[in-house]
Amino acid sequence: MREIKNPREMYLYSLKAKSHGKRVGFVPTMGALHEGHLSLVEEAKKKSDIVVVSIFVNPIQFAPNEDFTGYPRNTGRDKKLLKNFAIDVLFLPPADKLFPDGFKTFVEVDVLSKKMCGRSRPAHFRGVATIVTKLFNIVNPDVAFFGEKDYQQQLIIRQMAADLNFPIEVVSLPTVREFDGLAMSSRNAYLNQKERKSAAILYKALSLAQREIQSGERDVNKLLFRLRSLIGSEPVVRLDYLLAADPRTLQEVKSIKGKVLFALAAYIGKTRLIDNLVVEAE
Ligand code: AMP
Repeated sequence: MREIKNPREMYLYSLKAKSHGKRVGFVPTMGALHEGHLSLVEEAKKKSDIVVVSIFVNPIQFAPNEDFTGYPRNTGRDKKLLKNFAIDVLFLPPADKLFPDGFKTFVEVDVLSKKMCGRSRPAHFRGVATIVTKLFNIVNPDVAFFGEKDYQQQLIIRQMAADLNFPIEVVSLPTVREFDGLAMSSRNAYLNQKERKSAAILYKALSLAQREIQSGERDVNKLLFRLRSLIGSEPVVRLDYLLAADPRTLQEVKSIKGKVLFALAAYIGKTRLIDNLVVEAE
């Protein structure tokens, strides 16, 4: 596993690999790796000749009141985990190389970025779209891997890749969960024991939606009411949003037809977590 810090060196490495006919797969992360990240790495190994993983905690996707400074960082442990996968390159760009003084250009994916998490984190997806654009330009992959855990993010990146003519295949992979259904997340490390136990209610609520729809419920208001009541049984959990939407447009729906995205964000104490489930009505 080669470690590259310099964006120019990364660019040239990839260019050379591609000139030899190699298919470059890319997994962007913010580190504090868990099995969710590693499932992306595993798939990248299968689908590419050269696998590049990046670790970069992107300052411009955090608002000033958010957890950029405290975000879990453990590059030593991450490197050990990645060594088991024999990836080709770990790209670790320093922040001042990606965002030098005077940086002024941002990428905005309209409409999709304003829904769901965009309402409470208005500059978040512009930060995400900008860093992913930069990483795509530097790594120049043939295929890039993202988790459905961040459903809105992968949709925005697909839209951006299409709109900006990136010749990159975007692959989305299922959410990896803990034993009790909680979606794996680097932020789960913030939870104390009690909060960790309560956090399982989020996936329980999403699973309830699935069961109710399988039993024939089609009324979204009734479904959301039941989900909210269930989540309300855990006093430490405060919903930011819970909604049912079209999985392609994120437009909210009133009744269940075909595939529907149930998505939520919630504060467990001070920790904001997100989760979602795409449910299909027969
Ligand atoms: P992050 O380090 O949180 O920016 O995540 C890097 C990538 O890993 C993103 O594409 C995430 O969607 C994906 N990811 C995070 N958590 C999970 C999970 N539990 N299952 C699958 N993919 C995940």
